[in-house]
Amino acid sequence: MADDGRRTAMYGIMSLLAVLVLYEVTNVVVRDVFNAVVRRLSSVVTHSKEHNMESPYPMLSVEDALSVVLAQAAPLTRVMVDLSAALGAVLAEDVHAREPLPPFAASVKDGYAVIAADGPGIYPVVADVTAGQMADFVLTRGAVAYITTGAPIPQGADAVVMVEETERVDGENSLRLVRIGVQVKAGDDIRPVGVDVAADELILDAGERLGAAEIGLLATAGVVDVPIHARPRVAVLSTGDELVDPHQPLGPGQIRDSNRATLIAAIRANGGEPIDLGIGGDSQTELEARINRGLQEADVLLTSGGVSMGDRDLIKPILAHAGTVHFGRVRMKPGKPITFATAEVGGKRCLIFGLPGNPVSSLATFYLFGVPALRKMAGWRNPLLRRVHARVAQPLRLDAYRPEYHRATLHWDENARCFIAESTGSQASSRLLSMRTANALLELPQQEGTLPAGTMVPALLIGEL
Ligand code: AMP
Ligand code: MG
Repeated sequence: MADDGRRTAMYGIMSLLAVLVLYEVTNVVVRDVFNAVVRRLSSVVTHSKEHNMESPYPMLSVEDALSVVLAQAAPLTRVMVDLSAALGAVLAEDVHAREPLPPFAASVKDGYAVIAADGPGIYPVVADVTAGQMADFVLTRGAVAYITTGAPIPQGADAVVMVEETERVDGENSLRLVRIGVQVKAGDDIRPVGVDVAADELILDAGERLGAAEIGLLATAGVVDVPIHARPRVAVLSTGDELVDPHQPLGPGQIRDSNRATLIAAIRANGGEPIDLGIGGDSQTELEARINRGLQEADVLLTSGGVSMGDRDLIKPILAHAGTVHFGRVRMKPGKPITFATAEVGGKRCLIFGLPGNPVSSLATFYLFGVPALRKMAGWRNPLLRRVHARVAQPLRLDAYRPEYHRATLHWDENARCFIAESTGSQASSRLLSMRTANALLELPQQEGTLPAGTMVPALLIGEL
């Protein structure tokens, strides 16, 4: 009897537990289904313009996406390059002058080295000092020496009188005489030792970009092995069975691959070293093989196409398999499906940008995300695209769902004292002509309606002003 009672109690407790578990499971399932329905509905409501098959990737703002990219990009290690190959690179170490410049007191003018205290008058010319050799005599009072610009001042002389203030005088027995027409002070028209650059002076900082003047400073200091941040090697792969190389004849249903040539040019223009991975078609194995080569050889890999929602859009899953996808959608027009991933191959990290296929989308997203990443890797202190403000010349239609990067050509208007932005016309993302002559991407707000002509808008610079 007692056993029966215990058994009944046990059954009771177990049944209660089973009910509780069942309730909890049902609750979770119901909640998940409910949440999914809510998500579905809200996405249908907020993105009613977009097709119903929703990407599983959350939509990031451009700002957040750029922060994600820059957090993954780090300055590349130091390499030594010859001075002739350093233009545009970023210096990886401070550079100090080895010697003073000039290394000897030098004449600023063509004229006569004199002793200032002698004053104006007629003097014998006892020697010539030309640039490139040290004088082997000591000038004494009552005499002058002919001297050229950049020549070392002879010992004893303390000033130079420029040739315009002098006059040749005929002397007897072909004695060379000159009339000094002005009173000069000691030090006049002499560049003292180190006046331009002092010995050991810091002439260039680590982190500085090397332009023409900086290259000249390195040359002057004799720094011919220049420590720079390595330039990013950037591999470029086109995807799509419809693409043919521009050198090949066009078959039916085909178009020429323009993204590869465009991106390779943009990489060069932005200080990267391109690696051409060709056209990968739409075959998974072919794409994977080429992507693997890119991951091994490059610091950055750009693919174009194959990131939308079509059956042949294989890039996102391939990247998810190869590494970590950080984002797969950005709220922007053009370029929404841009995908960013990182992967480690052989101890080397590679940043991967799955750029959209449309020619404008791929180039615009390269400028907006790729260029700042390249700059940061190359050691730039501020890798962001420069922003100015410009007045729009035409009324511009806005997009209610996404901020738009409207291609425009900016020029300075002297009367209005501001930049004027001329639209490049139809902004279809397939129309590369809308990038032609564009030196800026206007940052148009996500908004209904039209922006009136004359409105000031922020503009990101992608070319020279
Ligand atoms: P996808 O994202 O692959 O569907 O490509 C979007 C559009 O861009 C399609 O019309 C493609 O034909 C076009 N496209 C993709 N890649 C390229 C390329 N490398 N050059 C020119 N057009 C391309
Ligand atoms: Mg494609």
